[in-house]
Amino acid sequence: MPPGPSNQIAIIGAGVVGLTTALELRARQTPVAIYAPRSGRSPASRIAPALFTPYSMPDGDRFERWTTRSLAKLTELAWEHGDHSGIHIGELREYFYKPAAHYPWLDRVLAIRPLPGTPSPCIAATTSTRPHMDMLRYMPWLEARASESGVEFVDRRVESFDDLFALGHKTIINCAGLGARELAQDPLLKPMHGQVIHIPNDIGLEYSLHDDAPGGLVAYIFRFRDRLVLGGTFDSGREDDRTDPPALDGIIDRCRNLLRIDGHPRWRDLAQIRIRSLAGVRPTRGMGDVYEHTRVERIDLPGGRAIVQNYGHGRAGASLSWGTAAEAADQALGSPGDP
Ligand SMILES: Cc1cc2nc3c(=O)[nH]c(=O)nc-3n(C[C@H](O)[C@H](O)[C@H](O)COP(=O)(O)OP(=O)(O)OC[C@H]3O[C@@H](n4cnc5c(N)ncnc54)[C@H](O)[C@@H]3O)c2cc1C
Repeated sequence: MPPGPSNQIAIIGAGVVGLTTALELRARQTPVAIYAPRSGRSPASRIAPALFTPYSMPDGDRFERWTTRSLAKLTELAWEHGDHSGIHIGELREYFYKPAAHYPWLDRVLAIRPLPGTPSPCIAATTSTRPHMDMLRYMPWLEARASESGVEFVDRRVESFDDLFALGHKTIINCAGLGARELAQDPLLKPMHGQVIHIPNDIGLEYSLHDDAPGGLVAYIFRFRDRLVLGGTFDSGREDDRTDPPALDGIIDRCRNLLRIDGHPRWRDLAQIRIRSLAGVRPTRGMGDVYEHTRVERIDLPGGRAIVQNYGHGRAGASLSWGTAAEAADQALGSPGDP
């Protein structure tokens, strides 16, 4: 039977979560159509820098499963496709001013080890190698892979699940990021605004850097092939896509301090030239300090119809997406998975 709504699984959303879910379904020989508007606000996935930085979640088992699966897949893609995929494995140095929560399994899979000579006033410094996803190249690469594998793209905003059931789809996977707030009527989904600055790597930095917010806001410098990305800001509840000059200046001050702590001789020269600044909105889901109550859950409906929810990846969607995609794909094909 040629692919059409009656035998295709419908995915809502073409961010990193929707695209990886489509690819997991195609790997299981399943016809897929992705519904997403081509115009309008850029999805979070196109703004993220993004480094493999999983944030802890309330459910430890799922966190471990999603994280290890994603890490394995991202590493495989980096080795198999090299620069074409936009992913490379690079060093991250982290500086800590306060005690951090540690997951022995995560330390082990990322081979996190102490950096010799912790600089004052930090209490610890570590180094590890991990995937760096250059989303300006990784997202188009994922899209091309999805098209080549036979995924149909439909330029359309979905107003309700019934729209897609009315077309004949039996199973829908909701990967709409923040758009899931209306579709699934989920009050736990909230926007978290973030700003980043792209600059040329004219100081010759050979690794990435991160700290744990000595003054209340983290600083990070992520190194990609043709630029450095400086961040970040985390404004909960804010939903626009504007950048603010004072926030951008604050990022640069914090990143220069991070580079100084690292002992880089050219810390004062950082960000003399800016290429662009970007703002995006992370689809966080949670309460209090936990922002990644990511939802992967199958809901069965009368008439053999089903919805699989796959959203709420918050600050870590690029890191977690392959893990949640595999689970959502299995659930869509009938495995109940975890609630
Ligand atoms: C500044 C910043 C820095 C970040 N840094 C990192 C990082 O270092 N590491 C990391 O892992 N993550 C990082 N993230 C988080 C990461 O970007 C997100 O978790 C991830 O992009 C979420 O992906 P998504 O596919 O769920 O949502 P999105 O990328 O927002 O995609 C949602 C998709 O759904 C579509 N859609 C929405 N509503 C509808 C509708 N009604 N009908 C049809 N389609 C709809 C949209 O058009 C879009 O295609 C960062 C994010 C930001 C903003």
